Amino acid sequence: LGLTALSACAVLTLAACGDDSGSDASSEGKGKIGVILPDTKSSVRYESFDRPFLAAAFKAAGVEYDIQNAEGSTQRFQTIADQMITNGVTVLVVDGIDSNSAAAVQRKAQQQGVKTIDYDRLTLGGVADYYVSFDNVKVGEEQGKGLQKCLGDKDANIVYLNGAPTDNNATLFAQGAHNVLDKVTSYKKVAEQAVPEWDNQRAATIFEQMWTQQGGKIDGVLAANDGVGNSAISILKKNGEAGKVPVTGQDASVQGLQNILDGTQCMTVYKPVKQQADAAAKLALAVLKGQKGETTGTVDDPQGKRQVPSVLLTPVAVFKENVKQVVDDGFVKKEELCAGP
Ligand code: BGC
Repeated sequence: LGLTALSACAVLTLAACGDDSGSDASSEGKGKIGVILPDTKSSVRYESFDRPFLAAAFKAAGVEYDIQNAEGSTQRFQTIADQMITNGVTVLVVDGIDSNSAAAVQRKAQQQGVKTIDYDRLTLGGVADYYVSFDNVKVGEEQGKGLQKCLGDKDANIVYLNGAPTDNNATLFAQGAHNVLDKVTSYKKVAEQAVPEWDNQRAATIFEQMWTQQGGKIDGVLAANDGVGNSAISILKKNGEAGKVPVTGQDASVQGLQNILDGTQCMTVYKPVKQQADAAAKLALAVLKGQKGETTGTVDDPQGKRQVPSVLLTPVAVFKENVKQVVDDGFVKKEELCAGP
């Protein structure tokens, strides 16, 4: 299945890669929307889903746009923002690498009369007019409930592999998971660590250290996304324990779904990214036209001491029995999951 997973991911990524910018003659003079995505390594979602879905939404609206990826570099992030503004972008959609650098980008944009929208990750201390995301505390709660479902209420040692400490979402995921798991009295948290930059290799190292420190007495792994979960699974495999120790995930990636079908991963959280891309495009268009965007509520930015008007979408827990739902939704193809050699 290793090879299969690789080719499936390659197909997904290649189809969506490249410099994505488009224009429509009818949009002349109406302004331009820029999107900056954070990286290509922490999850396959950005190039496989966010980019094509955003591009499709902007195309459908007949608006000029430019979508770029900062490749994990905060410096590149700033450079892209500067270039976009020079090239006429008046609304900037930002999926920040970390709050400090994203807030700096947003303030600079504001000084130049450019409006910003936070996409997926809230920029703490930022100045975005809107925020579009999934309910990230709920994502963590689904992960916690999922782990509980796979473990049962027996005595269990649990470890947490959280996302990047600089990603506000990671804080919310962990909060959600704790909301659920801290209430299960038969569970004992024996280790919890954040994975810098969501880096999968570091996740494997961190988990291997946890495994050694606990003498292999780990019964469940709350992993914040599919990539981090797969890292834990690789170490469990090395120790002959994969499939016996439930591991959570997020993103409904091909790899994560294959791990679920294989029985090495307990669950993932499916976030229909098209909904998020469509909501962001709608808000960006409203801002472009100087109109008020439709929101579902507000999200608290504790650092900026402000309430950000937001659209929060609902994540879906996926186990072996409802992997089909993700396929039926068109998010992944059956052949990507099941293609044999
Ligand atoms: C996103 C997740 C993603 C992670 C790593 C989070 O902010 O919400 O979908 O897996 O970043 O890129």
